[in-house]
Amino acid sequence: MKESVVVALDVGGTGMKCALVRPDGTVVHEERHPTLAARGPEAVTENILSVAESLAGKARADGLTPVATGIAVPGVVDELNGVAVWSANVGFRDVPLRDLAVQRLGMPAALGHDVRVGALAEARLGAGRGRGHVLFVAIGTGIAAGLVINGAGYPGAHGAAGELGHVVVRPGGALCGCGARGCLEAEASAKSIGRRYAELSGITGATAFDVATRAAAGEELAGRVWQEAAEALAAGLLAAQALYDVQVVVLGGGLAEAGDDLLRPVRAAVAEGITFHRTPEIVRAELGDTAGCRGAALLALDHSAGPTAEHRRNPTKDQE
Ligand SMILES: [Zn+2]
Repeated sequence: MKESVVVALDVGGTGMKCALVRPDGTVVHEERHPTLAARGPEAVTENILSVAESLAGKARADGLTPVATGIAVPGVVDELNGVAVWSANVGFRDVPLRDLAVQRLGMPAALGHDVRVGALAEARLGAGRGRGHVLFVAIGTGIAAGLVINGAGYPGAHGAAGELGHVVVRPGGALCGCGARGCLEAEASAKSIGRRYAELSGITGATAFDVATRAAAGEELAGRVWQEAAEALAAGLLAAQALYDVQVVVLGGGLAEAGDDLLRPVRAAVAEGITFHRTPEIVRAELGDTAGCRGAALLALDHSAGPTAEHRRNPTKDQE
């Protein structure tokens, strides 16, 4: 029998990560394509569908059987109805991407939120595997989170759950893209760390990576900016822990590349701030930038598999 694969796409503001993923989550083929966001949402939609179609063709040419399509996009995503409701950087407004993919490729499809499907992959295949309650936090240009309970993601009533980046951690703090002040994203995202350091040092163009490197080398100003960001992040995680009581918090996205330089001060600030809640383990993500494609594939299999899906996504339930 031919081996099945899922056609998976993780669509970002500038690029799309694309893959053929086996049902066990392993990636057998990867491609990258530009999103072409500047050409407008209709062109992006056509681009996504044609890339998916060519990936399905590639699978067949390699002797594999494509069985489903999984697509992850940023913004507000109605997973139940398969609609990309709203996205600032891709320009989607109520695009029924799932049904378009079903029509075009002739197989089941699922649409998910990029960070929430990344969470699904980390919880089931990566740093959260074997745990029932996992919070994945992606820290890059922005900050967002995905809660996974017993292998199932939590999308929220309107497809907008997990906006941890817009929890206010410093009232009156830095202006956020959403219009509020002191949002976690405005205080601790990679972008805001670079901007804060540039403001204070006068060194323009410094990135969060530069700040981490300078802080590790003992530069006082960089150390302060880094520490303040870690404390803001801890404040966000404490709010999340008060709400969700998870076993493990998985930190991903570009900023997590800092590894222990990030984990150490965040763990310390969380330990200091916690009162009666249970302190979650705080670990680094394991799947890197394949998490989105793998999670989109898992979501597509869950949606297409029917009654066996619950068992497959939840093999560790009895270990709790
Ligand atoms: Zn905000």
